[in-house]
Amino acid sequence: MRGTRRRKYVEAVLVGERLRVSFPAWMSMADARVAADELAERMRRRVDAETIDVAARARRLARAHGLPRPASVRWVDNMERRWASCTPVDASIRVSARLAAVPGWVLDYVLVHELAHLVVPHHGPRHAELVDRYPFAERARGFLVAVDLGLCNLAAEAPPGEAIAG
Ligand SMILES: [Zn+2]
Repeated sequence: MRGTRRRKYVEAVLVGERLRVSFPAWMSMADARVAADELAERMRRRVDAETIDVAARARRLARAHGLPRPASVRWVDNMERRWASCTPVDASIRVSARLAAVPGWVLDYVLVHELAHLVVPHHGPRHAELVDRYPFAERARGFLVAVDLGLCNLAAEAPPGEAIAG
C-alpha cells in the first residue's frame, strides 16, 4: 500500500520535465529543501553527462596524444571530492559527473591526465610531461583550481585563447 509505506530516504523521480522529490516524515523543511536542491543538481548533471560520450572522447584523445587506449571510461555520480580516477591495472577511468558541466577543453584535460596514468601510475615529472602534451593543460589546471576555490562557476564558458575571469 502506497500511503502507508514508511519512507526512510529522500527519493527523487523525474516526471516529464519536473523532479518530484519525496521526504521522510522526520526531516525538517529546511533540510528537505537542501536535499531537494542537491538531488536536482545531481539529476541535472546526470542528464548532462548522458549527452557526452566520455569513452569516445578519451579514445580520440589517446590517439591524438600518443597515450594508451583505455579499456573503459565512464561517468560516476559519487565522486564529490575528486575530478576523476584511474585504475592502471585494468585500464579503467572514472570521471565525476560534475565535469559534465565544464567546458569540453577542461574535460579533455582531465581525461588526458587520467590517460597519462596508464603509463605512469603516480604523479611526478614523467606524468606531468605526458599531460603537457595537451595544449591547454596549464589553463585547464587553473580553471579547475578556480572551481575548487569557488572562484568561478563550473559552467563558465572560457574557450582556450581567452583569459579566464576569476
Ligand atoms: Zn592523477
